[in-house]
Amino acid sequence: MDLTMLGTGHAVVTQCYNTCFVLHEGDKRFLVDGGGGMGLLRQLRAAGFDWADMTEIFVTHKHLDHLLGILWLLRLFGHGFAAGKCPREVHIYGHDEVIALLRELAELLLSPRETACLGHGVELIPVSAGERRTILDREVTFFDLRARKDKQFGFSLDLPGGALVCCGDESYKPWEEPYVRGCQWLLHEAFCLHSEADIFRPYEKAHSTVMDACKTAQDLGVRNLVLYHTEDTHLPHRKALYQAEGAQYFTGNLFVPDDLETIRLC
Ligand SMILES: [Zn+2]
Repeated sequence: MDLTMLGTGHAVVTQCYNTCFVLHEGDKRFLVDGGGGMGLLRQLRAAGFDWADMTEIFVTHKHLDHLLGILWLLRLFGHGFAAGKCPREVHIYGHDEVIALLRELAELLLSPRETACLGHGVELIPVSAGERRTILDREVTFFDLRARKDKQFGFSLDLPGGALVCCGDESYKPWEEPYVRGCQWLLHEAFCLHSEADIFRPYEKAHSTVMDACKTAQDLGVRNLVLYHTEDTHLPHRKALYQAEGAQYFTGNLFVPDDLETIRLC
């Protein structure tokens, strides 16, 4: 299985796309979040994906930088299903607030032709904390991050050798430990370098620094840590700068991907 980052930035980046990614294996795709708009379609294309293959989708929370790209996908699926060009059912998972909002926004913003696919090809599926689903032929467990801002879910996906855990876009919190401790892959936000915390003020936004995320991963015995949802002021040097700071605190494998970079998971 591979992880392709479509975007790696925080909410208001302009030099890269908002954080969202595709887990994929063979011809199966699992899209997590949509970024803030139709840039999702550009990023999917640039990564070599066909939007019509994004038949399993999870939205972590209702913020603009995660949700709005999904509306563009819905628009395409609406036309695709209306034209008989989408043979496979689409499943969009999210907690109750996300699903209700997606339905409402679709009805307000899309045409009747485009929304006709809802319930007829595109299934909006509310999931509760602790609920398990099979996605990519793997067991996925959704859990409540009990985020400081709005309600947000993460997930754990079973892989040979240990789980991949996505902690959304807020700092790790102790109640996530049952999922995170000893996991094989942890996807965690890092807003900026710790040495630049005074400039970017991550704590005001419930975010972490590279040091914080790396200390968490070290303490919890994580083997591979992927950092995302970052600031974008020195993108060409982000990988080197973040890895240099992170290596002081984390002895596992640290990944600081660029947009469109693919990481082999297993
Ligand atoms: Zn975000």
